[in-house]
Amino acid sequence: MIRKLLKKIPSPFGRPAHRRTTPAIIPASQHALKRSQISRNAVTVVERLQQAGYQAFAVGGCVRDLLLDMDPKDYDVATSATPEQVRATFRNCRLIGRRFKLAHVYFGREIIEVATFRAGHADDSDNDADLGREQSLQSESGRLLRDNVYGNLEQDAQRRDFTINALYYDVCTGNIHDYANGVQDIRNARVRLIGDPVQRYQEDPVRMLRAVRFAAKLDFEIEPHSAAPIAELAELLYDIPAARLFDEVLKLLLSGQGERTFELLLHYDLFAPLFPDTDEAIDEQPDYTLKLIRQALRNTDERIREERPVTPAFLFAALLWPALPQRTRELEEQGIPTIPAQQQAAHELLAEQCRHTAIPKRFSLPLREIWDMQPRLERRNGRRADQLLEHPRFRAAYDFLLLREAAGEDTGGLGRWWTRYQEVGADERRRMIQQLSSGEPAAKRSRQRRKRKPSGGAEH
Ligand code: ATP
Ligand code: MG
Repeated sequence: MIRKLLKKIPSPFGRPAHRRTTPAIIPASQHALKRSQISRNAVTVVERLQQAGYQAFAVGGCVRDLLLDMDPKDYDVATSATPEQVRATFRNCRLIGRRFKLAHVYFGREIIEVATFRAGHADDSDNDADLGREQSLQSESGRLLRDNVYGNLEQDAQRRDFTINALYYDVCTGNIHDYANGVQDIRNARVRLIGDPVQRYQEDPVRMLRAVRFAAKLDFEIEPHSAAPIAELAELLYDIPAARLFDEVLKLLLSGQGERTFELLLHYDLFAPLFPDTDEAIDEQPDYTLKLIRQALRNTDERIREERPVTPAFLFAALLWPALPQRTRELEEQGIPTIPAQQQAAHELLAEQCRHTAIPKRFSLPLREIWDMQPRLERRNGRRADQLLEHPRFRAAYDFLLLREAAGEDTGGLGRWWTRYQEVGADERRRMIQQLSSGEPAAKRSRQRRKRKPSGGAEH
């Protein structure tokens, strides 16, 4: 379909993306994107802005995804109107962002994000540097701390991240404006940065994560020049605010292509700045750690495909779990007994992780509960098993136990025991508990086995 859809488009071979000087306007007759495919609300925003005398286009991911026959996640609009002018055009509008000022136009639950055309940042050779400096600010490493210098459509195309994200669809004329050879890169399945890759990653290191995200999501290759500097520049991510990285990690790992994305993050050395402790665990215990994370992501991807709910709490619990034993051991070596050492290790690990990806409390609290329930799942005597079953976090904790086992942790058949306990009636449950206290099969044997053969993460 995509081939058929794009083959009519003239192919501007031989010209590097960022050097093009004349705009490529692809008329409606030469592409298959239809206005009816665009969200009704995005069309309204574009039309109203154009009626008010501004230029306005649907842009970015929605054009890219529709050309690839995929469902856009959201709709972005680019316009010549300033954020204040956008606000004056719509009643249901709010301005957000400091580093990058934007207008959000609300239609019930749908938000259309409207961005004013930007020029690239002003450098010192620029005549308007003084004017630019107020609106555009860079750190010593070249990172853009503020990016609010407005410009025209062509300048806006050049300051976008990837060629495939710099396609502008005019819902009124049906034309696609392609200033960066994005259509050709869509056709060739390439994620290509616009401009000089090193400079563009220095301006905003998150673009490295975005490259990986789009490569995984679209099943594209990162074009070699865009891929080459990533591993070396990966550590620039340590300077990015933790709240932004948390949002980015969710997009990376909870969008349905988590497993593939994880492999790419590892390949490009981008995983370490996001999860430094887990990265160490991968070095120390690669088989167990990688198996656990891959399995967790595979389960997550499957749930997303089946449209079942997924929670960042569970995924982060899995991503960080393999890093716990090392911290626990260090505390035990300082003379702290096992149980408090485990508690303190969990607390410290989460606090440290939040310096890199700021996990909000609504996720970190259930994450801790999932962890804290792991040793409790072993203690099933008396009424304990039934009480655990009633616990609101039981299901997640049980799933987590199965995940640990799938990764090769020896829990002495604990997962099987709990599976059976949930399946059988009251009499059988009583018998299972009695068997535990009479020191019979599963529990006791398993405890002995565990003593003889401790396994990687089974210390919690
Ligand atoms: P999706 O919404 O599917 O995640 P998207 O491409 O729409 O993908 P958004 O984060 O919604 O991504 O951003 C919208 C557009 O804004 C992008 O397509 C790109 O043109 C531009 N953009 C976003 N982030 C950056 C960035 N860090 N640097 C340069 N341009 C960016
Ligand atoms: Mg988008």
